[in-house]
Amino acid sequence: MKRFIAILLTFLIGASLCACGSDASDRTDASSVESSTGDTASNDASKDTVSVDTPDATLTIKLKKGELATFKSDRPYDESKEDISIILVVGQSNFTTTVGYASEYKGVVKGKIDSVSSEPVIPEAGTCYSGSSGKAITVLGENNDMHKLCDASRLDKTIGGVSPSFGIKWHELTGTKVVFVQTAVGSTGVHEWTPNPKDYICECNGGSQLYSRAVNLYKNSYDTLSKNYNVVYTGYIWNQGEHEEVYGKPECQSTVNSDQAYYDAYKSMHDGFMAELGLDFGGISVARADKAGKNAKGSMNLTIARNAQYKLCHDIDNLFMISTMGETCDPSAPLDMDKTNTIHFSQATFNKLGAECADNLYKCLGLATEKAEFSGLTVYSTVADKLAEFDKDGKAIGETVVSRSLITNHVLAKLNTLGTGYTVSGFELTAADGTDLSDYVDGFGAIDWISALNGHTVTDVEIKCVIE
Ligand SMILES: [Zn+2]
Repeated sequence: MKRFIAILLTFLIGASLCACGSDASDRTDASSVESSTGDTASNDASKDTVSVDTPDATLTIKLKKGELATFKSDRPYDESKEDISIILVVGQSNFTTTVGYASEYKGVVKGKIDSVSSEPVIPEAGTCYSGSSGKAITVLGENNDMHKLCDASRLDKTIGGVSPSFGIKWHELTGTKVVFVQTAVGSTGVHEWTPNPKDYICECNGGSQLYSRAVNLYKNSYDTLSKNYNVVYTGYIWNQGEHEEVYGKPECQSTVNSDQAYYDAYKSMHDGFMAELGLDFGGISVARADKAGKNAKGSMNLTIARNAQYKLCHDIDNLFMISTMGETCDPSAPLDMDKTNTIHFSQATFNKLGAECADNLYKCLGLATEKAEFSGLTVYSTVADKLAEFDKDGKAIGETVVSRSLITNHVLAKLNTLGTGYTVSGFELTAADGTDLSDYVDGFGAIDWISALNGHTVTDVEIKCVIE
């Protein structure tokens, strides 16, 4: 019941936000981009001409070259046993098994939509297994074989969402049986996933012991399965962040209300999982921006969770960004989202998302024979306006001098390819007269222009990329 009230509250708050208009202060009309005359390659030459292109400040994005270590398990290996991977599934509703097909099917029955976007993909018999939500999985048998559970003839009991396609791809890549410990819970906040949820006070009235529950379910599963199988790969996959869009408001001082607060809460969960469960990796499928997500560009708007998730993957060695597919989902497109609600992906999207997550994770672990090639970096504003683009050597492609008003208060430096090991290591801000303004840009890419502007005129900003 509490969860239902939370969902209802989420809806009501979301609706009230829509009614009073979204936060206009951070928004900049893309049409205000000033056209420029000089091309980027000749930018240095254009500096001695009087031009609006002459930047008043330079924002430098620092990249660290990728070095992928090839993962190798140090757990005991018995040739006589079969190989498995155990994947702990954590986060909000989009990583549960009841989204996608099961939800869309109910929508058809209730006459809300005409048809489902797609049936789930079905793993071969004996390859992928799913525990029931919130239960340990200790036996790999017919009753939890996803070959049976993902069959659409089970109607609203069908296991949908991300795990069927993740399982198929991970099995294909690793040859292991794939075992999902399903612990994701709809509408939950990152604070509820920390080892210390009681230290957070949130308007959601959460405080669920989701972390300890996940730890116990994983341990129970692992302890039994590891007696009968070689556990070759272990890790968790995460998709969450809509909760903080609803509750993580700056005025709510007691909850997760900033990039850093989300970062710290998440890191405590990650570090805990790694230490307590001995996992090999974590993988994040980045949360889609929901409140602004009325179209594909809206899905890419920056939020607390999204800012933090990017930085966490850059900072932590065994944590990887395994998909950004949610950023390109367009709620107005026919198949991208579950048409019975505004927040869940369609099964058609999940069928692609899971495979992409598995594929990128495999590359991140240095296991792929065909390595992912770094192909450059694109820089976006808070509201997903493209600001600048750089190639694999950090060389600018096209114009890189942009109006400060377009940069708004935060940039996203997004790697064009996942799984390369490249990371964003930091940001620097310099005034045209050489004054170092780097104190006013934080590690998440947020820029405090009000303080930085003290004594400086900054109308145009040049964006640069340096690969270290
Ligand atoms: Zn909360």
